[in-house]
Amino acid sequence: MNRKYRNTVIAANWKMNMLPSQVKAYAGELKALTAQSKWCDIVVCPSFVMLPAVHKAFRDCRIGTGAQNMSENEKGAFTGEVSAEQLVDLDIHYVILGHSERRQLYGETDLTVNKKVLAALNTNLRPIICVGESLLEREMGVTAERVTLQVKSALSGVPLTKMRRVIIAYEPIWAIGTGKTATSAEAGEVCNNIRAIIRNLYGARTSRAVTILYGGSMNAKNARELLSQPDIDGGLIGSASLSPSEFAQIVDAANQDNA
Ligand code: PEP
Repeated sequence: MNRKYRNTVIAANWKMNMLPSQVKAYAGELKALTAQSKWCDIVVCPSFVMLPAVHKAFRDCRIGTGAQNMSENEKGAFTGEVSAEQLVDLDIHYVILGHSERRQLYGETDLTVNKKVLAALNTNLRPIICVGESLLEREMGVTAERVTLQVKSALSGVPLTKMRRVIIAYEPIWAIGTGKTATSAEAGEVCNNIRAIIRNLYGARTSRAVTILYGGSMNAKNARELLSQPDIDGGLIGSASLSPSEFAQIVDAANQDNA
């Protein structure tokens, strides 16, 4: 992390877990456990149906709410979809885009992700753009190429003035939900490459200001070490975010590291 230049963000991706009836208890516990958090922006991303309840539960504290997806279209005949404007109207500030599960299970392409990023940035939403290689790509030694393509495609057409609102999450697909974590050196190297891509596209000042997260089996035990990498500015947490106490320990790790 490097707090001098950019925010530390710890975001929970609940995926399709938790129930609306569980939100109040979770929020009460997380608020109590993270009340002393000073240095870290905490974000909770539930399924769409729980967004109003989560937002309400965290209204009296600094914990933000995010969606896990949104439509690339502005409005109209798109049954089952949710627009950026609808999220903003609920006072939601973040949206996860291009998660590998969306890419693998729902056919989202680099082009779709780019359209969603542009739509999010047209409103006040902060996109958390997920990128990452498969196990095969890592074994073939093409991680850098794959991630470069994903980052450049996702940012195509994003103007300099909006870049500081962008968050990138490096999530190696083989580490998501598997219990396998990239070593801190491996994760740090890819995040450093991502910052170099942003530097080439937008210049040094902007690249220094963009928050880059690591995601993939981050938990209370390995968070500190991953967060000690200079280009890892926080985490996107799946499984470990379902327990308020484990999630709060990751927030603690992010607060303690004073890199
Ligand atoms: C994720 O899905 O974004 C994620 C990082 O999941 P997990 O922490 O369970 O690997």
